[in-house]
Amino acid sequence: MKISLILNSYRVAFISLLLLGLVSSVWAGPILVVGHKNPDSDSIFSAIALAYLKSQQGTPAMAVAQGKPNPESDFVLSYFGLQAPPVVSTVAGHNVALVDHNTYTQAPDDIKAAKLVEIIDHHNLGGIVTEDPITALIQPVGSTNTIIWELYQRAGISIPPAIAGGMLSAILSDTLAFKSPTTTNLDRRAAQSLAVTASVTDISKFAKQMFLAGEADLKTAPIENLLQRDFKIFDMNGNKVGVGQLAAVSFDLLEQRRDAFVSTMQVLMQKENYQTLVLMLTDIQSDGTVLIVIGKNQQHIADAFNVALKNNSFWVAGVTSRKKQIIPVLSKVFSEHNN
Ligand code: MN
Ligand code: MN
Repeated sequence: MKISLILNSYRVAFISLLLLGLVSSVWAGPILVVGHKNPDSDSIFSAIALAYLKSQQGTPAMAVAQGKPNPESDFVLSYFGLQAPPVVSTVAGHNVALVDHNTYTQAPDDIKAAKLVEIIDHHNLGGIVTEDPITALIQPVGSTNTIIWELYQRAGISIPPAIAGGMLSAILSDTLAFKSPTTTNLDRRAAQSLAVTASVTDISKFAKQMFLAGEADLKTAPIENLLQRDFKIFDMNGNKVGVGQLAAVSFDLLEQRRDAFVSTMQVLMQKENYQTLVLMLTDIQSDGTVLIVIGKNQQHIADAFNVALKNNSFWVAGVTSRKKQIIPVLSKVFSEHNN
């Protein structure tokens, strides 16, 4: 009885080892750290920062991206002398860590054919399901890079100046230089510390320089490109909803193209079968947003903000954050008016 039990546990251990060997050969290579589609600065630099941290901790990891950096991130990359993460179109068969998002609509298309091992994010939970337990760290702060900065502090690992510069830029970008209501004291503390490491002496001056670099092509870029620059797809109660955002210091450049945005959105809506399309044109200086809304729930959305629609759009004062001030309102509208 006793002997067979021991033999049995040996057999279990042997089979487990075999399986482990199989699994580790299937999920090969370094962990790919990837941000969301249409990557912004937070996605680009959180991938770089987390991959470096993991590597320093003895876990091979590599930053990748689901697209080329936007003009703002390009400016930051060259300012601090960093390389853009390589663009990948597939993650199948890899170990993957998601940063700055946690939904299937924003993750790589074949994420289900990869092994998801980690999520570091600051958005609402968006419905990703895993078979195995994973590391997930989701905190309501202004930027994913703030969370990663804390991970560095906890690990006692120092951040190279260039990476610190990228992380600082991402915090400034996501919090609109601390003006967004998503900003927390932790974001400010992280930014102060990262600025010292990156030798950025005047944070607000640097932020303005970065925003202006990111806006350089607002006048000339094709509207389709601008629309996709910071565009996210959401599943709201079974409805396909797209929400883009363009934030600018030179707000008049966005305002001048409002009609072109409306007509381009109408085309995109038909072509890609959206239930509703929303675009936020955010004025960083005066702290508000022109919301363009196309689609069936247009009127309900305007009602939710208690404003009158004019030319498919309206101004909402004090609104600058998609995740905190727009998505919750849209979700509520779609739960109450599901066609
Ligand atoms: Mn982002
Ligand atoms: Mn972010």
